[in-house]
Amino acid sequence: MRFTCKHIGLSIVIDEKLMDELCRLGSEHYPKEYGGLFVGRYVNNNKEVIIKQTVLPKKFKSSASSFERGVEGLRNILAGFLNESPSLIYVGEWHTHPDGRPIPSSTDSSALRTIAAHHQVSIENPLLLIIGVGIEVYEFEFYVLYQNEIHRYELEKKLIDQKVSS
Ligand SMILES: [Zn+2]
Repeated sequence: MRFTCKHIGLSIVIDEKLMDELCRLGSEHYPKEYGGLFVGRYVNNNKEVIIKQTVLPKKFKSSASSFERGVEGLRNILAGFLNESPSLIYVGEWHTHPDGRPIPSSTDSSALRTIAAHHQVSIENPLLLIIGVGIEVYEFEFYVLYQNEIHRYELEKKLIDQKVSS
């Protein structure tokens, strides 16, 4: 699956299997929020992020409207990914909104700004995936913090779909 934010010229590639896995994890924790981190790599002159894996927190606090992940062990896990070849780095976060729309809350927005300013996982343009989880219904949107503004990505339609519709 490929998502693009034309306005700022950035895109995301994520495997459909990984997306399915995140939705399944979201359903398992429904009606509470759940989430994790993303590791991946930047390609194409840093214009494209390939999301390779999720890293799930060992400890977290969650409710129907909040999710706070612990940081225990994450530094070591991320160091391990960095040593792989090609190395994978922290690229952002994901969490669910049970029975909610995949739109960043004010807490979500400030969390992204905190990540961008944070020294340990310094990353200029952190990604955020929000999955709205209902009963067997999912709705998801990717966002990125870019020059202190939050931008949304659009799912790129596959070529085959465009052919069918034109
Ligand atoms: Zn949220």
